[in-house]
Amino acid sequence: MIQVFQPTLGKEELKSLETVFNSNWIGKGKLVDKFEGLFAEHLGSTPNHVLTTNCCSEGLFSSMPLCNISKDDEVILPTISFIGAGNAVCANGSKMVLCDVDKRTLNARPEDIEKVITKKTKAILLLHYGGIPCDMDSIMSLAKTYNLKVIEDCAAGVCSTYNGKALGTFGDIGMWSFDAMKILVCGDGACLHFRDPELREKAEKLLYFGLQTKSGYQNSVAQKWWEFDISCFGHRAIMNDLTAAIAIEQYKKLPTYMQKRAAVHKFYDSNLNNIEWLDLPLPIPEGCETSYYFYHIQIKNGKRDLLAKYLREKDIYTTYRYFPLHRVPGYKVGGVYPNADYAADNTLCLPMHQSLSVNDLEYIVDTIQEFDKKYC
Ligand SMILES: *Cc1c(COP(=O)(O)O)cnc(C)c1O
Repeated sequence: MIQVFQPTLGKEELKSLETVFNSNWIGKGKLVDKFEGLFAEHLGSTPNHVLTTNCCSEGLFSSMPLCNISKDDEVILPTISFIGAGNAVCANGSKMVLCDVDKRTLNARPEDIEKVITKKTKAILLLHYGGIPCDMDSIMSLAKTYNLKVIEDCAAGVCSTYNGKALGTFGDIGMWSFDAMKILVCGDGACLHFRDPELREKAEKLLYFGLQTKSGYQNSVAQKWWEFDISCFGHRAIMNDLTAAIAIEQYKKLPTYMQKRAAVHKFYDSNLNNIEWLDLPLPIPEGCETSYYFYHIQIKNGKRDLLAKYLREKDIYTTYRYFPLHRVPGYKVGGVYPNADYAADNTLCLPMHQSLSVNDLEYIVDTIQEFDKKYC
């Protein structure tokens, strides 16, 4: 089976783990600090703005208290959002307000957001779909006008930029995931960026029990180092030196990963462009870099499901991301979102990862051409 997403792991990662084993320190330590430093640099930022955590979903949940979002507040998110974003808002007791998206990029547009702003709106929880940047200039000026916090779910946008600036560094909080299915992977892990370093300080406490003081060796012997106070009822959401060791090796490989993904993207674009029921190529907004996390196609003849099944029978796994939150019965939200509905019914994510061979790609394209001849 050709997988739709897949990590690329090598002997470098394995070797780095061996070093951690030999050090006998597998908890949060020097390697987590090192990775934070590297990632801060990658973002064009500095470590006082950046904090790692155990997963991006934790970042979504924690962004609610960190942005002082309370029960009476409304949070706007595109209905095509990751389930963790919806859960974060609802678990906080706040009102989840959904907005529609652009039909092709599946990103919320400024006009979609503005339509649902009310006096109670406190924040926008933005998703950059597949790492394709939203229109940040307009969205940030909208946020300024209405005095809204902006949280960027940049989980899949590890190398995405908007006008040369790293995506995820525009809003109050931005976040990237390193889970098993992302581009830079380490099992589980994530990075958060805070525009205001003071918020990073607050986050560091929230993500570690609310502890005021550092523990163990980092405390002086002048005091009893086992005593402590807390500033809040914090979580325990940290990376460790095992995951950081993998992340550091993966980080070094990011440029080659991007080259490979761009090449796959280009291959699909140029080999599928003769199929008239496909909407290609995907418009990448001017001045933006994507991370090529998804290669999503839109099927204009209503045969998306048939195509997905056909490909699966031929050992090509595809999927659609993300199931719109307004269709999740558990959220009990209404509303009409025509573009999101169109996207959810006609979009398919084709295999996209670094390990796809030329043979794989040719086989995928040939099989889609075969489907065209048989059914279209
Ligand atoms: C994967 C993903 C997340 C969650 O990341 P985890 O690290 O697995 O918690 C959040 N948002 C988006 C868009 C994702 O793709």
